[in-house]
Amino acid sequence: MPTPPPIPVLPASPAASPAARARDPRPGLSGLDTGALAAWIAERGAPAFRARQVSDHLWSGRPGGVDALRTLPAELRAALDASFRVDTLPETLVREADGGLTEKALHHLDDGRTIESVLMRYPARGPRRERATICISSQAGCAVGCPFCATGELGFWRDLEVAEIVDQARFWRGRLAPEGRRVTNIVFMGMGEPFLNTERVLQAAAILTDPAAFGLGARHVTISTSGVVPGIAALTAFGSQVTLAVSLHAARPALRDLLVPLNRRWPVAEVVEAATGYAEATGRRVTYEIVMIDGINDTPADAEATATLLRGRLAHVNLIPMNPVAHTPWQPSPRERIDAFAETLRRVGIDTTIRRNRGIEIGAACGQLAAELAGAPAPAAVARRRELLVRESAAALLDAGSTGTPA
Ligand code: SF4
Repeated sequence: MPTPPPIPVLPASPAASPAARARDPRPGLSGLDTGALAAWIAERGAPAFRARQVSDHLWSGRPGGVDALRTLPAELRAALDASFRVDTLPETLVREADGGLTEKALHHLDDGRTIESVLMRYPARGPRRERATICISSQAGCAVGCPFCATGELGFWRDLEVAEIVDQARFWRGRLAPEGRRVTNIVFMGMGEPFLNTERVLQAAAILTDPAAFGLGARHVTISTSGVVPGIAALTAFGSQVTLAVSLHAARPALRDLLVPLNRRWPVAEVVEAATGYAEATGRRVTYEIVMIDGINDTPADAEATATLLRGRLAHVNLIPMNPVAHTPWQPSPRERIDAFAETLRRVGIDTTIRRNRGIEIGAACGQLAAELAGAPAPAAVARRRELLVRESAAALLDAGSTGTPA
């Protein structure tokens, strides 16, 4: 396989983000399922093996647009180019951290918007094989507005199309291929709320897990939601074995209203019931994520409320120290408080893992690079935002009585 051209490394202080341009009307080729691609080829009177040649190029990890499809007749190549974009991520910048174990990509879309994806390498340990997990985006920006998240601060630009989601995985496959490595896990935890773009996210998941396309096992794909109940129901109906993760962050409703504003629309009790429905339908354990914020959601009362909420359910909890972001006054919880929180959950039989924070020095939490590219917010705006969060979190912490336990 030829070595791909080197990918430019993101400078320490990137230039300002370009203004949005008009969208290219051609859909991305990788967003077509195998049946639709075969039908398109057949409509042009070309033999079926031409569809396989296009597929082989798309899923091989080889770089390049339509020009790289040299095995196709020029006429078919021109027709393909007129109808589709072979690569929907025309420019990508990469930053490395953790001695190369973490890489963050900033992808420029055709309209000038930017999205992010991250590669996390996990070396082999004991019986565990080496893994390469990628975290991908489902939207450009996000409308949910979780206050600890840099993407939430950027606001919402638009939904990604299917190919823009899938091409993030193709990008990392191409980056790993020269090393003889492959993507082993995909998590939808980058920019955006996947279940506010449900139809395209599920189409992308189908392509990523199709053996004739990207070909990753469904159990190696995780879709993480901040609690969009209809999206969880759609995933249940989708009937796949993908892992469902729920960004819980707080079991007490008033505090969750602050940390995950969608809680006002779909309260935590309804979210956990819907997730339990998914677990029962698929037999798959649901992962609950809690970003641990010092003095905010890591108190003994929060640990007890979480234990009450999840006890007896098919659940696994990940505790993740918060990534510090500029617009909040909050900091990650100290390790001993995370340990105590985990202990409370384990005492009632809830499997709990404490995750390491990866790539803090490159802003690996979603939205941090795009926020940097967009330019620093005015110091006065940051100060106002911080004051508001201090006031709101103090009010939410006073409401310690309610546990959010479903009736
Ligand atoms: S944490 Fe996820 S859902 Fe919340 S604002 Fe950030 S990207 Fe959106």
